[in-house]
Amino acid sequence: MIKIDSISKSFGSFKVLDGLSMQVMPGEKLALIGPSGSGKTTILRILMTLERIDGGHIQIDGEQLYHMERNGQLLPADERHLTRMRQKIGMVFQLFNLFPHKCVMDNVTLAPMLTKGTPRAAAERRAMELLEMVGMADKAKNMPAQLSGGQKQRVAIARALALSPKIMLFDEVTSALDPELVEEVMNVMRKLAAETDMTMLLVTHEMGFAHDFADRVLFFDRGRIVEEGKPDEIFRNPKQERTQGFLKKII
Ligand code: ATP
Repeated sequence: MIKIDSISKSFGSFKVLDGLSMQVMPGEKLALIGPSGSGKTTILRILMTLERIDGGHIQIDGEQLYHMERNGQLLPADERHLTRMRQKIGMVFQLFNLFPHKCVMDNVTLAPMLTKGTPRAAAERRAMELLEMVGMADKAKNMPAQLSGGQKQRVAIARALALSPKIMLFDEVTSALDPELVEEVMNVMRKLAAETDMTMLLVTHEMGFAHDFADRVLFFDRGRIVEEGKPDEIFRNPKQERTQGFLKKII
């Protein structure tokens, strides 16, 4: 379980998150929606330890993310602790971030071989399974530059999965794609969400996708959760005026 407890985060004098609390149950598929700048991406980046928090606490599976417990005291986490905690989490970004000089197979096998010491043969076997799942097995030897945006994003998903994280974070993974490529990535993710017991957090501006993907939808505005509920409740019958206004504009 992810337990976010009263976290705050500022960039300079701009307070993005101010006392945000939320929980995600094991295996839950959560969609974070809301206007640009409301802090959705920042939450994912904080969970991935790409941004630090200014205050509050985060627990993952009962362990503090940014603190270490020593003799009943909470101390700031050191790099070793952060590295260990980070291994529980995989993230796929808006821009594909593949290693441009490595082929598809090497992109997927590199991290397990380097960070977990997985032997090459085992890493490649697992990579092939994952590439098959995302429909990219026939491109295993291709270089990223030879792939479409949708194909690159599917490889990026396989690469994040290769480390067998318990939690997957998806940050606007379709928003840099040409419209005709969006659907192929969404299909892979719908299948993944339906078949896996991984916990997943998705930030998206595609409301139909959020509806199909998520067990629960959180609507954010200015760093706060304005409304949350099952996809049907949020999209068909939003209760808050702010949510109604947002959805009217976007759908
Ligand atoms: P979008 O849907 O447009 O991605 P978002 O809800 O994900 O928006 P964030 O990306 O979390 O919003 O950004 C929240 C606010 O924090 C924005 O105003 C953004 O400009 C600001 N911000 C984010 N990262 C930084 C940074 N590294 N330095 C300064 N300001 C930042």
